[in-house]
Amino acid sequence: MRLECVVCGTGLTARSPGATGPYPICHAVPCRMVLDQRATMSEAAFARHLHWRARNTREQRARARAEDERLRALTVAESVENLVQWAAVEAHLPGHQADQFIRLALPSGPTRQRKLAQGRRHTYRNHLKDIIAQANLAGDEAPPADTVATASRSTLPGQVCALCRGGCCTRGGDTAYLSADTMRRVMAQQPHWRPEQVMSAYLDRLAPKTQVGSCINHTASGCALPREMRSDVCNRYLCESQKELQGRLDEAPALRGVVVVQRRQDHWSRHLPDCDNGIVGATSISESGLNPGPGTP
Ligand code: SF4
Ligand code: SF4
Ligand SMILES: [Zn+2]
Repeated sequence: MRLECVVCGTGLTARSPGATGPYPICHAVPCRMVLDQRATMSEAAFARHLHWRARNTREQRARARAEDERLRALTVAESVENLVQWAAVEAHLPGHQADQFIRLALPSGPTRQRKLAQGRRHTYRNHLKDIIAQANLAGDEAPPADTVATASRSTLPGQVCALCRGGCCTRGGDTAYLSADTMRRVMAQQPHWRPEQVMSAYLDRLAPKTQVGSCINHTASGCALPREMRSDVCNRYLCESQKELQGRLDEAPALRGVVVVQRRQDHWSRHLPDCDNGIVGATSISESGLNPGPGTP
């Protein structure tokens, strides 16, 4: 008979620690914690408890396996579609050489705008008030290191984000990842600013309209904040495609451009079940700008 953990069902061998006795158990802490509870209850109560925990654990594992499988199948299907679209764009690129171009898949930021609601502005103001007060409490403590990214020699990273329209900004909400550390950095850069001036500097940059479902600072023309006022999260974050591009820019031969397939959903929603993440565009970008692609499929 197969020997398995009574909680999670992981297979055990006769020599596995915990394999002996009426309740074989694997090494996982949550499984061992279930068994530990045997000492605190009657045998009948423990049997019921074990039955319930084992069922929940196995259901969770089955769901996780199914989700892994779904994501694997989705990745394969999207990769096949991307290959077709990249090749179609490359076929229209005069003198295209595979080692001088990088293929990227991009999400899409929101296209629609909406008037900035008072409630959102209010939440942002309260958040700023809290983090500016926390930053002041830090007193003379050295501010965190400056995380503002240095400008790239290439125009490609900026162009790629512009084409994507901030597909990763959609989780910025009404706080834009701003923290007391960001405020301390800004205050160190502007030592003459009083707390209320720091607050105004942020509030004054709010646009009357923002992108629907995105960060309070996300406007049709990009982020309303200059880089030095953005959070460390915003200044450091690179999606997989940007990481790949920026890594490639340091290598030889020099990159002439980027071949892009763009999908419908933003960075965070693109793998959600039942969501249409079809291709919405395919094009190429060179240092001098966007080239018209063969069109939207
Ligand atoms: S970092 Fe990636 S997801 Fe974010 S805007 Fe740039 S290309 Fe889009
Ligand atoms: S602050 Fe700017 S960069 Fe950061 S999430 Fe908001 S819009 Fe994007
Ligand atoms: Zn187990």
